Amino acid sequence: MANELLYTGKSKSVYAGDDNHTCILEFRDSATAGNGAKKAELEGKGVLNAEITSILYRYLEKNGIETHFVKMLDETRMLAKKVDIINVEVIVRNLAAGSFSKRYGVPEGTPLKNTVLEFCLKSDELGDPMMNESQITALGIASQKELETMKDMALRINALLSALFDRCDIILVDFKLEFGKHDDRIVLADEISPDSCRFWDKATGKKLDKDRFRRDLGDVLGAYREVLRRLKHAQPL
Ligand code: UDP
Repeated sequence: MANELLYTGKSKSVYAGDDNHTCILEFRDSATAGNGAKKAELEGKGVLNAEITSILYRYLEKNGIETHFVKMLDETRMLAKKVDIINVEVIVRNLAAGSFSKRYGVPEGTPLKNTVLEFCLKSDELGDPMMNESQITALGIASQKELETMKDMALRINALLSALFDRCDIILVDFKLEFGKHDDRIVLADEISPDSCRFWDKATGKKLDKDRFRRDLGDVLGAYREVLRRLKHAQPL
């Protein structure tokens, strides 16, 4: 019997697992930007993002970060622990870019004196508005203790990923994380891929991420393939 489709997101579908503790994430070829305003099918993106996410999640697990990753079932389907998603996106920034540059009027690539952490409400209807910690706790989206755990994990993940991508001659500019609760523990969920990170080539500054799609820079999949090639070469495991 086919597994029940639980949820269709913009680039992934979630199916029920064979038991109550797991689910199956299917990475699709759909790409969207501008909160769904721009859409395309990029043939092969699902396979690339699934493999990149699985390499990064294995690396993070090996280095003490609990994630929802269990194993790959095939090229696009990941078996994951079933989690209750915490309804905030955690954004980590090492350099100014994207909405940060726009909002605060600083050129992309401006160095930051400290790592920036931001929280946004996960809501397509409201356009993922930024939230501060007192707003998050006031609405019961997460407790202060859960926020501290997510911040601590986000900073540890940033240190681990920055070091790995540095070995790939890639600057990890910024990225988005999602967390969920599994057996009352907070675990890293969702994906980490060029769809959710900004990657710049260290030597040339070339963008190797979804900004190629958002900004019509061309050869989106070539850039994703290059990230995967360098990750495999760096042998993180
Ligand atoms: N990001 C994401 N999903 C979102 C919003 C942001 O994966 O819904 C990622 C984005 O790819 C980038 C980082 O989070 O790596 C920071 O994004 P930013 O706030 O600059 O927003 P954007 O410029 O993408 O609108």
